[in-house]
Amino acid sequence: MIDTHAHINSRDLPNVETEIFRIQNVDYLDKVINVGLDEETNKEALAISGNSEKFYCALGIHPLHDGKVESIVELCQYSPNRSRVVAIGETGIDSAGEFIPQARKFIETIEVANFLKLPIIIHANNTNEQILDLLKKHPAHYGFVFHCFQPNMFALEEIVRRDGYISVGKPITRPNAKRSLECVRNVPLDNLLIELDYPYMSDDPTQDGRAVFQKIQELREMEYKELERALDTNAKRLFKGLRD
Ligand SMILES: [Zn+2]
Repeated sequence: MIDTHAHINSRDLPNVETEIFRIQNVDYLDKVINVGLDEETNKEALAISGNSEKFYCALGIHPLHDGKVESIVELCQYSPNRSRVVAIGETGIDSAGEFIPQARKFIETIEVANFLKLPIIIHANNTNEQILDLLKKHPAHYGFVFHCFQPNMFALEEIVRRDGYISVGKPITRPNAKRSLECVRNVPLDNLLIELDYPYMSDDPTQDGRAVFQKIQELREMEYKELERALDTNAKRLFKGLRD
């Protein structure tokens, strides 16, 4: 499977080399999109993706992190690993922060993504509606995914209507995930992606991917291979830089 959202060089992990080695050896993870959170982690994520076939990267300034959005363009333009950048993000709005500065940064990030012809990875924490409003005025021309989608059928319908994607991870395996399950059951298969969001939503990427995958399989009543093919196809449709 393709893990579409990870943070293996997050400052919340003790040692990046250990993480790279660990993920490198997880057979069921074919590709991993490693997502930067600020200027430093963007630089590292880009370097990691240049050294390994398994890792790709997304570059962004997380809504709750500091950093200049224009640094993404500079980083991309002069890097020999430019082709490993498959998305811009994560970006978005978190209800824990102030709205106006985050919205400004989000719009600026969309412009960068459009300039670089890349899709965006959206972080929406209790802000699905605000994000959808902003996206209406500032469309992401190369597509978008709501990562770790917070379940809401109205938002889901709107995302699908605009050819967007939702990505789901470990929260769907929780016993009380009723609303998430409803979304996974009802979303058109073509609009669904899978992620682990390690180390934030998963503490064990060597196992958790299987559990999430199985849960989707169960909800969609699909064979392993059939589901894997569908999710991989979706990831490659959105993140065009992913290779076979
Ligand atoms: Zn993330």
